[in-house]
Amino acid sequence: MAVKKYDYLIVGNSAGGIGCVEGIRREDREGSIAILADEKYHTYARPLITHLLEGDVDRRGMDYRPRDFYRKHSVDAFLGYRARNLDMEKRSISISGSGGTSSGGNGDGKRTLRFDKLLLATGGSPFIPPMEGSGLDGVTTMITLDQSLEVKKRLGRVKNAVVLGAGLIGTKTAEALSRVIDRVTVVELADRVLALVSDETSSRLAADAFRKKGVEILLGNSIIEVRGHGKVEEVLLLDGTVLPCDLLVVAVGVRPRVELAGGTDIRVDTARTGGGFMVEDNMATSIENVYACGDASHAHDFVTGAHRLLPLWPNAYIGGRIAGLNMAGVPSRHRWATNMNSVDFFGLPMVSAGFMEKPNRKGFTEIIRDEKGKYAKLVLKDGVIKGMVMAGCVARAGIYLGLMRNKVKTTSFSDHLLSHDFGAVHLPDEVKEKMKQPIRIIE
Ligand SMILES: Cc1cc2nc3c(=O)[nH]c(=O)nc-3n(C[C@H](O)[C@H](O)[C@H](O)COP(=O)(O)OP(=O)(O)OC[C@H]3O[C@@H](n4cnc5c(N)ncnc54)[C@H](O)[C@@H]3O)c2cc1C
Repeated sequence: MAVKKYDYLIVGNSAGGIGCVEGIRREDREGSIAILADEKYHTYARPLITHLLEGDVDRRGMDYRPRDFYRKHSVDAFLGYRARNLDMEKRSISISGSGGTSSGGNGDGKRTLRFDKLLLATGGSPFIPPMEGSGLDGVTTMITLDQSLEVKKRLGRVKNAVVLGAGLIGTKTAEALSRVIDRVTVVELADRVLALVSDETSSRLAADAFRKKGVEILLGNSIIEVRGHGKVEEVLLLDGTVLPCDLLVVAVGVRPRVELAGGTDIRVDTARTGGGFMVEDNMATSIENVYACGDASHAHDFVTGAHRLLPLWPNAYIGGRIAGLNMAGVPSRHRWATNMNSVDFFGLPMVSAGFMEKPNRKGFTEIIRDEKGKYAKLVLKDGVIKGMVMAGCVARAGIYLGLMRNKVKTTSFSDHLLSHDFGAVHLPDEVKEKMKQPIRIIE
């Protein structure tokens, strides 16, 4: 079996992996780098897979970096290979697959890659709840380009699509499908859509936007059985309703892919819900020279101060970049992430970050502006912004985020915070200066 040794080995060819290549190459132009992924594609923007469905973007438009990225950065890319076994004693990973490599060679099966430093940017895998019939043709999740291409291929034959789950992935999928399919229904167990990235009011505005476009939203309900002969034909809901269905997209959650930690001492979160590689602020795992980032790992949340899962594209890229800098010997820390979301549904822009509801604890307050579909709420603790929710109008979200990151006490200008003309003019000079400073990741 072919064995090759690299200075840096990166598992995952998405936001985290690419961030890591760029972090390493900022400092080290010579060290050998290999990147590998079981997806066979050139690096692509995962959040665009639903846009591909509706034809908003084509395959080439999804490229996350130009096609000569690996060559220009002197990276051996093993695409279409799965890492199966991590041996920390030999510092090696065995891989198998039928993909190609950027350094030549195609479909050559099994290999062993040895490394000095390793990044695990393995992302997440979708969760399918136990449902009778979930193995029928036409039932899918929506996480990969392959799944999007597969759904796109069958769209001409689909009249009734059902999406299970109204989180970010479910709602984005439903919006895209509604532009190309007659009838789209979203089934959600919670009592509102986008529960993790909205408060009650902004969630209602989002649900209204979907309903206005003819998407049916069924809350407090779920699917208990998928029925059909070989392929999905209908779904049975918890309340007894039967919906006709020739495409079912299950979008109820994604779990960190941590299987490579099996049999090693790499610490994985088992105490809290969600899992994920446990890392320090410099993205180092519990094992020397092994790093992790992105959807597969925890990150420091600057709002709560806790390390937790923050499964968002920018968090994965920055975490990967910081890991890469540290791997190349530049001490850097990831201290500026939080659950910041920015989305748009049918022309309704929405932004949220930090606390979306006021915690029932001393010192927390909230201020709200709610005007005809234009909604903004700030959650503050002792005058410092700890969270925001905006829908319909997201102007100034960047300023609020800057105030959050800089932990600025807003008491002296709080009357202006939600005014229509709020801007730099209301900020004291020292705050303006602070806000101009770029975020420091290198120590
Ligand atoms: C439909 C959709 C919409 C989204 N929209 C948004 C959005 O609007 N905004 C936002 O911020 N985020 C969004 N996200 C989330 C965002 O895409 C993720 O946070 C981001 O992709 C995480 O990047 P990552 O590098 O950690 O991992 P991933 O992008 O998950 O990539 C991990 C890669 O590692 C590979 N891999 C894992 N294990 C192995 C192994 N053992 N061997 C080989 N390869 C392996 C995987 O196949 C995959 O290619 C969306 C996600 C989806 C699916």
